[in-house]
Amino acid sequence: MKHRKAFIRILVCAALLAAPAYAHKAHEHGTAHMNLSVEGQEVEIDLEVPLADLTAFEHAPETDAEEKAVRDAAAILHDAGKLFIFPVEAACRPEKVSLESEVISIELLAAPGAHKDAAKHGAAEKKEVHGKHEKVVEEHADLDAEWTFICRNPEKLRHIEVGLFKYFPSLQEIEVQMVTPGKQGAAELTPQSAVLRW
Ligand SMILES: [Zn+2]
Repeated sequence: MKHRKAFIRILVCAALLAAPAYAHKAHEHGTAHMNLSVEGQEVEIDLEVPLADLTAFEHAPETDAEEKAVRDAAAILHDAGKLFIFPVEAACRPEKVSLESEVISIELLAAPGAHKDAAKHGAAEKKEVHGKHEKVVEEHADLDAEWTFICRNPEKLRHIEVGLFKYFPSLQEIEVQMVTPGKQGAAELTPQSAVLRW
């Protein structure tokens, strides 16, 4: 009996060791990963989401329609106050948004109206990114988003409603790791249950 337990433990360890090398490429469409931290007045939210769940493709945009799909998705992600609904009494406001993806130029991911000469720069950058993309054409691609909020009354902050599912319907699950004054641990959000509580 003792022997068998030890053997199972070895199997589990082997599985855990094998997982990380595989994990990077094999993201699961429909599932995003989020880190939430609340420290003092600052709330930081990081999200890693399959590009396919935002734009329906996972490569550098090649047509005007694909560029528009990227710009539309980026515009929604920049609208931080709509994506994350804080309790009014906590008095939180968006401070910073940053978006990044290995297959998309920074210009395409910029906030709407942020760069007046984006078209010119975008064309040059697109070519460069496209070259990179050809090397990784078989792989999945993610988008990494980071939002920072400042709350005047952080002690009133005990939950956040996550609105991502409303705007990106192919997203079905967000696995959350959170560190807040009241809780450290994991949570799972779905379209039916999209409020983080602590
Ligand atoms: Zn993928």
